[in-house]
Amino acid sequence: MSQQPIVCKFGGTSVASGDQIRKVAEIIDADPRRRFIVPSAPGKRSPEDTKITDLLYLAHDLARKGQAIEAVWDQIAARFLGLVAELGLDLDLQPVLDEAAAEIKGGASAAYAASRGEAINGHIVAGILDATYIDSAEVIRFGKGRRLDPLTYELIADRCSESGRYVIPGFYGADRHGTVVTFSRGGSDVTGSIVANAVDAESYENWTDVSGVLMTDPRIVPEAATIQEITYKELRELAYMGASVLHEEAVFPAREQGIPINIR
Ligand code: ASP
Repeated sequence: MSQQPIVCKFGGTSVASGDQIRKVAEIIDADPRRRFIVPSAPGKRSPEDTKITDLLYLAHDLARKGQAIEAVWDQIAARFLGLVAELGLDLDLQPVLDEAAAEIKGGASAAYAASRGEAINGHIVAGILDATYIDSAEVIRFGKGRRLDPLTYELIADRCSESGRYVIPGFYGADRHGTVVTFSRGGSDVTGSIVANAVDAESYENWTDVSGVLMTDPRIVPEAATIQEITYKELRELAYMGASVLHEEAVFPAREQGIPINIR
């Protein structure tokens, strides 16, 4: 039997620049079990920087008010095209960028606009990893009240049955009519957990800007100690109470299969 895979989710800071994405590739290359990669949208490169997701919400808001999105859109496109250039990828992103801009100008939903951060970044990450790109709108299925449709697990397992690497963008999926739906902010963590469940992963590695779950907020107490092991229940409670290390809904899908969550 082939070995169980590891699912790796990379947060916004981990994919914020070409150098960061190169580190992602090194991490993936270091262990052949790391076959499922769930990227966020590019986050901040410095404290003054703006997350791509925030720019996308802004573009949507401008379009909704009938204002021009060009100035904001140029920033978004420049970030993505800059990443492709920095990484030296042979990837033409213009068609997907143009399509997204046209949809947003044409009245697409805020969820659609925001989801393009992960959707477009997924092409870049798949490009550098030589992985199969899966559009999450085709496999992450939302039912009534934004609840996850359990069919999602089958859809992912069916689409990812070959060996090799898969990139499944975080944060969004679609309802049964194909309309894009997102999780709440930080929701790529949830996508990673769902993918881990679907492929019966050995572990779910959540790569983020802090190593591990800390006893308290390191921005307030710099010497905060790392918690070596924590139960699902305790982790869920911490997330619910506002520990920003993991999205509060990300615990359940992994817990259902007893898959360890490893904060890296
Ligand atoms: N990009 C989305 C956000 O900024 C989702 C995520 O990063 O997990 O909230």
